[in-house]
Amino acid sequence: MLNSDRFDNTPKVKKHRPNRLPSNPEIVDHEKAVGPGRFPSWLHRKLPQGSNLLKTGQIIENNRLHTVCEEAKCPNLLECWSKKTATFLVMGKECTRSCGFCDIDFTKTPKELEPDEPERVADSVKKLGLKHVVITMVARDDLPDGGARHLANVIREVRGRNENITLEVLTSDFAGNFDALDIILDAQPEIFNHNIETVRELTPRVRNKATYDRTLQVLKYAKSHRKNSGMLVKSGLMVGLGEAATQVQETLRDLSNAKCDIITMGQYLQPNSHKLLVKSFVTPEEFKAYEVYGYSLGFKHMYCGPFVRSSYNADVVIQQTIKNV
Ligand code: SF4
Repeated sequence: MLNSDRFDNTPKVKKHRPNRLPSNPEIVDHEKAVGPGRFPSWLHRKLPQGSNLLKTGQIIENNRLHTVCEEAKCPNLLECWSKKTATFLVMGKECTRSCGFCDIDFTKTPKELEPDEPERVADSVKKLGLKHVVITMVARDDLPDGGARHLANVIREVRGRNENITLEVLTSDFAGNFDALDIILDAQPEIFNHNIETVRELTPRVRNKATYDRTLQVLKYAKSHRKNSGMLVKSGLMVGLGEAATQVQETLRDLSNAKCDIITMGQYLQPNSHKLLVKSFVTPEEFKAYEVYGYSLGFKHMYCGPFVRSSYNADVVIQQTIKNV
């Protein structure tokens, strides 16, 4: 039986709620403190150096594109953009789902798709000089194919204009529409990524509409797809939402049974005061233990750490995974 005290039973969206974080597990070092000194030392980092930050922003802005880096308030934005990398968010910046962890705006009436968006993404990839690109999407439950054709067009356009590029798509579950998944998989990205986000027990509170088992089915389907000639399957989860270590291990076993190749795992951070509370700060040692456990299950790559996100250092992750294949 699960202890219901482990869960935050407050409504998913609550206005004017103070941003409460768990107390700092360490003695607060006021020299390093962020805000009221609530974050442990491993969640402090130096500002990146270099002048690419503005250039990256300009290329994206000039092409009228969105990134998940900005829309989800990713804590790695300064670092990634300084390295001239970003994760493109296609099909708008408003999502038809409202998940408890995600800062992307919700809408019931999303904007129409822009037929020239694939070209603009391809142009930005070229200008940024990317060798590996991650493209993600908002959930478009309003469209019969969930936006699959549009995403496949992005894949083709990026590939057509960027020689030797490797492509990673981070998709929705397309509401379990396997015809839609076929459209993406037929376009043959090098990595198909779909996040499980959290453990089974917390899924109803953390995710909106998506289910734990459907995510496993989507991942399994992608791996065994008829067009898969070496495509890697990736999934990720957040920790610090109130899950137990045994539940994380069970999730890793489920992802291993679904034949995932790569796992990312990072600390959940509350993006705004309306979203789910942080329940714990997972230590670097605990991340290391999850990494070791994952490798014991046979994953080709485990990328675990406080700042790890699905697309964080994705270029390095694909290279390291290929070495382990
Ligand atoms: S980790 Fe991914 S989403 Fe975050 S800033 Fe880097 S590229 Fe963007």
